[in-house]
Amino acid sequence: MDAHESLLELIGNTPLVRLRTPSDGRGAPVYAKLEYLSAGGSVKDRIGLRMIEEAERSGALRPGGTVVEATSGNTGAGLAMVAAAKGYRMIVVLPDKSSAEKVNTLRAYGAEVVVRPGGLPLEHPEHILNVAAGIAERTPGAWFAGQYGNPANPEAHYLTTGPEIWRQTGGRVTHLVSCVGTGGTISGTGRYLKEASGGRVRVIGADPAASVYSGGDGRPYFVEAAGRFRHPETVDDSWPDSYQREVVDEVLPIRDRDSLTTIRRLAREQGLLVGGSAGTALAAALRVAAGLGPEQLVVAILPDSGRQYLSKYFNDQWMLRQGFLDGDPAVARVGDLLPAARRAEPLPYLHHHAPVGEALAVLRERQGTGADPVVPAGPAPVGPGRQPTSMELAGAVSLAQLEAALAAGRAAVTDRVGDHLGEPLPVFGAGEGAAAALAELSGRGCGTAVVLADGHAVGLVGAGELAVLAGAEPKQGR
Ligand code: PMP
Repeated sequence: MDAHESLLELIGNTPLVRLRTPSDGRGAPVYAKLEYLSAGGSVKDRIGLRMIEEAERSGALRPGGTVVEATSGNTGAGLAMVAAAKGYRMIVVLPDKSSAEKVNTLRAYGAEVVVRPGGLPLEHPEHILNVAAGIAERTPGAWFAGQYGNPANPEAHYLTTGPEIWRQTGGRVTHLVSCVGTGGTISGTGRYLKEASGGRVRVIGADPAASVYSGGDGRPYFVEAAGRFRHPETVDDSWPDSYQREVVDEVLPIRDRDSLTTIRRLAREQGLLVGGSAGTALAAALRVAAGLGPEQLVVAILPDSGRQYLSKYFNDQWMLRQGFLDGDPAVARVGDLLPAARRAEPLPYLHHHAPVGEALAVLRERQGTGADPVVPAGPAPVGPGRQPTSMELAGAVSLAQLEAALAAGRAAVTDRVGDHLGEPLPVFGAGEGAAAALAELSGRGCGTAVVLADGHAVGLVGAGELAVLAGAEPKQGR
């Protein structure tokens, strides 16, 4: 028989495939390690298996026991799959922003899902890591997997991913490119390849540009599961033990737009459907390969499949709205209202901790056009060059609304703006058609919208401005 006795034998051992690169003939060849072909669909199957088997060996996890982890992503699925195959109960704590597909995948494996608010500082007792640790403590027979500090995470890659790449390339690999989330993949794989090659293999991290690993400020970004976000109120941001920085030679920042356009092109031009962090790794790998010679060989680890992101990165509507697509140049577009000079002006935006008195001053300064002035607000730090992302537009305040609240005694000038937020303003991508945007804005009964470019708020537009622009259609060629 040519068959496996257990599903667990189908974890890892993923194929390596050569990609067509733009500089074919010049530069180094790029090979992709397709982690979506593992049994559970991601690179995290490997650590799901290794962490559970190490816990069995140490006695931390016994028959009938419970596996607990805090994760919105693939580690939960990898652990849930292995737990199901081995007969353990599984509890996963997730942030409330997790996609329905991810939550439902965990439930499909029989995991119990506990949802807590996302976007909290690490110190907050309701942060998913603290909630998971608490559940593990209170539940008899429970074991907290803890991928950020569990040595079995990098070890899984030292024992499997690294040796596979070395064998598959016949020892010819010269550069490894990988994302860094917990750091397990790059640390374990990189360490093995450096040892096997006598230190010759160069290890390169690929990181969302806003992530702290590549020197960003830790503000939100759109590539899921890679990099490190830092909540503005997190006091002590110590990096995970599973990230062994001495293994990594350099970390390249990759903009969200580059990651996302890379995977969209890869799917259309080469038939490979992979996730956003794979785009980050590939964009970095292509950049590295372009500067090398044909005798060198770059391997990029592609952590998961694009099927988990069909409603986002592969959805034109979502991409347009977030301002990641340029739209149809034959029609007037929302972004045409925002020439470079105006985009450079700071967006009117209030930090949610600002006092109501300050909000009143900002709003009164914007009075005069007849319309009720309105300004978005949220947790993003304010300052020159710091445009909030669409994820940081928590709500908005209008002058009429604030004045009414003050008059009725429902608000005081010393209150925080965040306690008096109305609904967030509608958002439009800079590439969206102005006429369609105007119709949607009117349909929602709003007079002002936020314009997004590359997921960041770059300006406010009024219905009047959109109407003027839309009336000018059809526009002559540009
Ligand atoms: N990309 C995806 C899709 C992932 O699920 C992960 C793991 N969180 C990573 C990248 C980063 O891998 P690691 O945690 O091993 O650094």
